[in-house]
Amino acid sequence: MEARENAALQHAKTSGRRATVVGAGIAGLAAALRLHQQGWDVVVVERAPTRRSGGYLVNLHGPGYAAAERLGLIPALTPRDIGFFTSVLVHADGREKFRIPAAVTEAAVGNRALSLFRGDLESALYGAVADLVDIRFGTTVQAVAPTSGEVAVTLSDGDRLQTELLVGADGVHSRVRELVFGAEPEYFVDQGHMVGAFPLETVLEHLPKGVGTTFIGPGRTAAVMNLGPERSSAFFTYRCPDPGTELALGAAPALTRAFGDLGGGVADALHQLAADPDSAYFDSVGQIVMDRWSHDRVVLLGDAAWCVTVFAGYGAALALDGADRLGAALAANGDDIPTALDAWETSLRPEVHKRQALARKGISRFAPPSRTHVWAGELMLRAIQLPGIRGLVRRAIQRANN
Ligand SMILES: Cc1cc2nc3c(=O)[nH]c(=O)nc-3n(C[C@H](O)[C@H](O)[C@H](O)COP(=O)(O)OP(=O)(O)OC[C@H]3O[C@@H](n4cnc5c(N)ncnc54)[C@H](O)[C@@H]3O)c2cc1C
Repeated sequence: MEARENAALQHAKTSGRRATVVGAGIAGLAAALRLHQQGWDVVVVERAPTRRSGGYLVNLHGPGYAAAERLGLIPALTPRDIGFFTSVLVHADGREKFRIPAAVTEAAVGNRALSLFRGDLESALYGAVADLVDIRFGTTVQAVAPTSGEVAVTLSDGDRLQTELLVGADGVHSRVRELVFGAEPEYFVDQGHMVGAFPLETVLEHLPKGVGTTFIGPGRTAAVMNLGPERSSAFFTYRCPDPGTELALGAAPALTRAFGDLGGGVADALHQLAADPDSAYFDSVGQIVMDRWSHDRVVLLGDAAWCVTVFAGYGAALALDGADRLGAALAANGDDIPTALDAWETSLRPEVHKRQALARKGISRFAPPSRTHVWAGELMLRAIQLPGIRGLVRRAIQRANN
């Protein structure tokens, strides 16, 4: 009740303030929701012609779960929770090596956690804001110019917006970052890997339902998940010296070249991709490292500011957390937007720093440098199932979340 009264009070104080958000991904939609809840008039511009609901699994626990709770998303997300599922580690030909039962993961992560397809998180956010803010698809930002106390934003459709706050939530290859902070190579730290993920139209018949299989070999991981119709998905990551060549090749040929030798559900998944290549999220893996995430009234949020990469398993959670904290900092600092952005950045930096470091360490789990590393990783996964070790893992996860 108290929170609602505070929100109403804040609404009265700030009503009519204008924010423009670039990017209708997780960070952008979450920022639009949080700002709207505080009474801002929000315009969201998204370059893609329609919603982008693809992607693999995202985990919300720790601060990410708490942010989803504060944003009021838990009721919409809970029915979409995949829950805990059995993971089967497989040989290259698809034969089972060993399995990690769902109960083991559940005991390690605890119950304040959600496992979701990225698309389901995007849908829940879109559902929460679609009728409340002005979302313009097929539109991007062309120019940004500060004016006194505002920012003038020129859009690709020729429209010009005067806005008090510009949020660049346009992902790792952010245009807002390029326009306001400088070219991508100044901030993009290549991690030497590619990532591909796409939904599976039909379930993989020879995989039991409710199971995800994972192949981990030197320099690469392939995972396919069979959770039934419209709930199945594939994920790939691999080491590569030249991401530019892979991107030029395109998702289907590049992933087929890197994983076409694998059996199990992988071959079937790659065939499905070849039939619908546009369904894939396919990109090089790189972190964004910046000294400052804001300049005057322009702020970067999510991957645009601090991409932690897939190896952190935490990009969506940080996007929600960052959007929620941004709203809190703006509410606490009234009209003084630059001070609010400073306070926001100070509160968030330690978490981002920690997750980027964890991601760099995590690379060897997804793309082990050698067979010995593959073997050592498997040993660790088997050990997780021992009751004493399970407690250690749980404590390590809790430490990462605090
Ligand atoms: C379709 C899709 C699938 C993904 N799948 C995975 C996955 O399987 N695994 C994983 O680790 N990460 C995935 N990601 C990235 C993941 O969503 C982010 O790391 C994380 O959620 C942080 O979100 P974000 O909103 O900052 O960035 P993103 O989710 O990348 O969202 C950025 C949004 O901005 C839009 N945009 C980009 N440039 C412009 C522009 N110039 N003007 C206007 N809009 C622009 C994009 O179309 C996108 O909608 C995916 C991203 C997308 C868009």
